[in-house]
Amino acid sequence: MTARRVLVVGGGIAGLAAAVDLVDEAAFEVELWEADDRLGGKIATSPFAGLEHVDEAADAYLVRVPHAVAFAERVGLRADELTAPSDASAMVWHDRLHDIPGGILLGVPAAIRPFVTTSLLSWRGKLRAAAEPFLPRTDPDDSLGRLVRARFGDEVHDRLVDALVGSIYATDTDRSSLAAVPQLADLASKHRSLLLGGIGVRRRAPAPSASSPIFGAPRHGMARLIDAAATYVTAHGGTINTGRAVTMIEPDGTGWRVDGQPFDAVVLASPARATAPLLAAAFPDASARLGSFEHADVTMVRLTVSADAWPEHLRGRSGYLVPKPDQRYVTAASFASQKWGHWAPVNGSQILRVSLGRDGLPVDHLDDDAALAATVDETGRHLGFDLQPGETSITRWTDAFPQYRPHHHRLVADLEVALPRSIGLAGASYHGIGIPACINSALRAVIRIKESIPAADQFLT
Ligand SMILES: Cc1cc2nc3c(=O)[nH]c(=O)nc-3n(C[C@H](O)[C@H](O)[C@H](O)COP(=O)(O)OP(=O)(O)OC[C@H]3O[C@@H](n4cnc5c(N)ncnc54)[C@H](O)[C@@H]3O)c2cc1C
Repeated sequence: MTARRVLVVGGGIAGLAAAVDLVDEAAFEVELWEADDRLGGKIATSPFAGLEHVDEAADAYLVRVPHAVAFAERVGLRADELTAPSDASAMVWHDRLHDIPGGILLGVPAAIRPFVTTSLLSWRGKLRAAAEPFLPRTDPDDSLGRLVRARFGDEVHDRLVDALVGSIYATDTDRSSLAAVPQLADLASKHRSLLLGGIGVRRRAPAPSASSPIFGAPRHGMARLIDAAATYVTAHGGTINTGRAVTMIEPDGTGWRVDGQPFDAVVLASPARATAPLLAAAFPDASARLGSFEHADVTMVRLTVSADAWPEHLRGRSGYLVPKPDQRYVTAASFASQKWGHWAPVNGSQILRVSLGRDGLPVDHLDDDAALAATVDETGRHLGFDLQPGETSITRWTDAFPQYRPHHHRLVADLEVALPRSIGLAGASYHGIGIPACINSALRAVIRIKESIPAADQFLT
């Protein structure tokens, strides 16, 4: 009996999700090759501030879409290993800290009263936003920034939509695709007025509650998902090799030769720019397109603030965002010990996770001293006290976030048509950046590969 050999390139969440899906089929012999000496890619958890498991990047995934929840269950995480953020509320810094007004969809106003009373917008900004329901339909041309500026004006764009969406994806929404934010793309395609459409959407949506949270996470950090997935793959007969970088994929009869080894199919779960050189010889056009993807670098600084120094007015808060016009290096800070019940050090100090950099705001040129100095200076100024960090750590995420420019999805669709069906693309570069989207992209890639080779009972001999 000869099983079909499938190689998964990349051991981030997407590669592991693909491998988990593949090893469930007896017809496949699955190998995963990861260039780095550890699995996880953009997911990393490490000890900090006396706690065993504090994330250095992603700390939560959406649970209102099924993919990450189902994946966690599939790789064996028990319900009691998972947790949800507290109901602490977030703020935006513009000259001072402001509450984020209620009734928004990713920053887009979807209620009236919170916008009348918010201190975040000027009266001029509020009046401009109030004109939105009377404007004719806007053709957004797949630009999120252009759409929101045209509908609500610059203040709503800069202080809410770009601040929220921009911080989630480290993007500049003036240069990013509307279709990449499906919730808003859907709203814009179905409604002339986003405000009126949004009010309807909010009325129909279940309110977030303790029994129906929006986000979830493993108590032992996001790396728990990676470890559980790796265990699942090897327990089901798959092979995982770390420290093994793929350099070239070439056609080999009906299959592929990857650095000298034959495979019937390949899932490329490495980021687009890392994938480009692997396909340079076999598919130069696709390789050039993959190489054209742009990315933003992000630096994550974790630091502790002693219990005595932590101001009373920041209690019950989960953190804040900095709008693009107000940014120097810091784009957002999460008050991790208030956001997550399991990240409260025993001595009562606070863990802050501060993000620096985004598309158009480079940070990789800062050495560690400069990155820390910028963090302390800017965060202290935003929070209004003399911030004296205790423990600190700095993680550089170079090429952290692929940037979805307008018409990104068309580019990806063209790529998928250009490549043979026994090559699948998975991961944050293609159909969504968040963890659930990466997992789902892996499942799509595996379906494509299964369809590309004869059904199991036909080829098992
Ligand atoms: C700071 C930060 C915070 C984030 N916060 C959140 C969050 O809260 N919630 C959320 O849902 N998402 C978040 N994200 C996004 C999410 O974590 C990532 O998009 C996702 O983890 C990417 O997974 P991936 O498998 O597509 O890619 P990666 O994690 O980049 O994995 C790709 C792997 O391929 C390997 N590779 C590259 N080239 C080769 C080669 N030639 N041969 C073999 N291997 C190769 C790489 O070493 C890497 O391990 C965050 C990301 C960052 C950086």
